[in-house]
Amino acid sequence: MNTTRPANGSPIADDRALGMDRAITRRDFVNGAAVGIAALATATAGAAAPSASTTGGKAPPTNYPPARMGMRGSHPGAFEAAHALRDGSLDPATAVDVGETYDLVIVGGGLSGLAAAHFFIKSVGRDVRVLILENHDDFGGHARRNEFRVDGRLLVTNGGVLEIESPDRYNRWARSVLDDLGVDLHRYEQANSANYKLYDTLGLRSGHFFDRETWRRDQLVVPPAASDMRGGPSPDAIARSPLSARAKADMLRLLAPDQPDYLAGRSIAEKKALLAKTSYRDYLLKIVKIDPQAFWYFQGAGQGTFCVGADAYPALFGWVQGYPGFSGLQLGPIPDGLFESLPGGHHGRQKESGSSVHFPDGSATLARLLVGSLVPGATKARTQEDLGTGLIDYGALDRPGQPVRIRLSSTVLNVRHEGSPAAATECIVTYARSNDAEAKGLQRVRARNVIMACWNMFIPYLVPELPSLQREALAYGVKGPLVYTNVALRNWRAFQKLGIQRVSSQTMFFQDVSLAECVGIGEVVPPTSPDEPIVVAMNKYMAAPGLPTKRDQHRAGRAELLAISFEEFERQARSQLARILGPGGFDPGRDIAGITVNRWPHGYAYTYNSLYDPVEWVFSEAPDRPCVVARQPFGLISIANSDAAASPHTDAAFEEAHRAVGEVIAQRTFPFARRA
Ligand SMILES: Cc1cc2nc3c(=O)[nH]c(=O)nc-3n(C[C@H](O)[C@H](O)[C@H](O)COP(=O)(O)OP(=O)(O)OC[C@H]3O[C@@H](n4cnc5c(N)ncnc54)[C@H](O)[C@@H]3O)c2cc1C
Repeated sequence: MNTTRPANGSPIADDRALGMDRAITRRDFVNGAAVGIAALATATAGAAAPSASTTGGKAPPTNYPPARMGMRGSHPGAFEAAHALRDGSLDPATAVDVGETYDLVIVGGGLSGLAAAHFFIKSVGRDVRVLILENHDDFGGHARRNEFRVDGRLLVTNGGVLEIESPDRYNRWARSVLDDLGVDLHRYEQANSANYKLYDTLGLRSGHFFDRETWRRDQLVVPPAASDMRGGPSPDAIARSPLSARAKADMLRLLAPDQPDYLAGRSIAEKKALLAKTSYRDYLLKIVKIDPQAFWYFQGAGQGTFCVGADAYPALFGWVQGYPGFSGLQLGPIPDGLFESLPGGHHGRQKESGSSVHFPDGSATLARLLVGSLVPGATKARTQEDLGTGLIDYGALDRPGQPVRIRLSSTVLNVRHEGSPAAATECIVTYARSNDAEAKGLQRVRARNVIMACWNMFIPYLVPELPSLQREALAYGVKGPLVYTNVALRNWRAFQKLGIQRVSSQTMFFQDVSLAECVGIGEVVPPTSPDEPIVVAMNKYMAAPGLPTKRDQHRAGRAELLAISFEEFERQARSQLARILGPGGFDPGRDIAGITVNRWPHGYAYTYNSLYDPVEWVFSEAPDRPCVVARQPFGLISIANSDAAASPHTDAAFEEAHRAVGEVIAQRTFPFARRA
């Protein structure tokens, strides 16, 4: 590997110095499969074994999915069968009928699939048979939980879906799910009111890291006071940056309260129309005319929401999301003109509103509550607080005789009607088990109805009998790829010493690095001092600037992501933390206790983008949007999932589940299938 040297000058010359040889809890599930017992023993040696006191009196079984580390998210073992089907090397016709018939089979155990089961049971009662098939070894889809046990403490964090975003804007059906599950956001926020203040109390701020590959030497710039990263750095931070004098002057001009009208002579509507068709990059460089060096701060604008950077991010979105450069344009209040009609979940939530709520494990709490409600025997936990440490009995998810069965590690490969779609009374669902040595090969079950709560772009492969226009529409949106890497640290003294809680590192492997939000729930306790263990989140957005469209960028980013090994993620995480935190006394070999890479090659639902898609797809509920054409029911098959709304949000996933269940229920009266 390349020699790396932290900014404090102490040599970190090779993998050994980075701690790549240290025994930490990372390699027990490298590449998704358990390695030998000896390796497992070594792997757990560096971190405390789970104890009853750290798990709310309940020690998790070994091999518990949320506690698996190494490559998670879309882990190896979860997608090979699907890719073999895509490549034509797998024939679903060879499947064995396992003799099971269901009222409803749901393809995909993400929030949309789980919510579909919830809405179905709520409407027709529990005297039914529902099967959820999910290709991963854990449920929740993107809403996944990561656990670490470090020095006797349980650390819980989100492996995917971060927060209940703008709950005040949740649609009726999404709200009903929260209410049915007893989710109480107010109670949660009150319980965390003191925790939220910890980092601020310690004076920790958001900084920028200028890397030597771009700026000749590594330099961390921390502003003297808290600043809003989107609004740009403070004048003091600009003064300390390595920018040229001209770039610094341009930054001060861009951030000054009195901005010129860079689009003078145009009406408000004309300005908005132009901004909708101009990237934020072009706006800053060609219209505001800032120095390219100053643009360094803004190249990642929009990436957290759209998985592409400022080159593929409409300037109009930048205005709405609070980036600088627009105050002189006199565009009026934000819900105005083009933005007047932004109902529904389809538009990508350019406008945020209200606060968002982040449980320690993100929205995995919602997935776990849903599973607890669908399969009551799977957990004793009943409330959001119980589930802080409450265990799920994964062995109970797929037992015969219960109304809802959740079958993990089962990749659906084919869904077809038995007979013509117009007249059929049953579908055949074929899937591959990826973790069941006794059930090698393919299996199939029968279903009176099917809800596809999986990913739109794969549905044409799974349901080849769909009409061609619908297949094209399903394939239109390409999901945005991204990675959430969670690194468990034994302490965070280096963050305190450097005065940072979050660092933007735009031109490094991970584009941002931050301490996990300081929140607890039930018996999950957040840190109270920098001497205690914590999780650091390192995010990587797989943008590929320079390609013609956002869809091209997502495809290229996904291919690149799938080619990066866990070892490379680990090396990069160690090296980047050493470079940023080294001057604060951080030693990657000593301080890192565990690493989990949550890889999401099929991440955010594709959202329409006014640079590449018709403007009306972005700013209205136009019926010719591909997501609308794609989600039409076909015979006994309905389509849920957040792709169906072209919106990467939980409330969209719930609303689409409700619509799909409505289609199923409208279609038939239920003499129910006999339970097996
Ligand atoms: C990293 C990340 C962070 C996010 N953060 C937020 C956030 O903070 N707030 C927010 O509102 N939204 C967030 N989202 C958006 C998130 O996608 C939605 O909130 C929601 O979880 C989508 O649910 P879903 O069920 O539609 O899709 P998914 O969660 O993708 O679930 C679909 C499931 O179907 C499975 N599947 C696919 N094909 C098959 C097959 N052939 N056979 C069986 N199963 C299959 C998939 O593996 C997956 O588990 C985030 C997404 C990602 C990737």
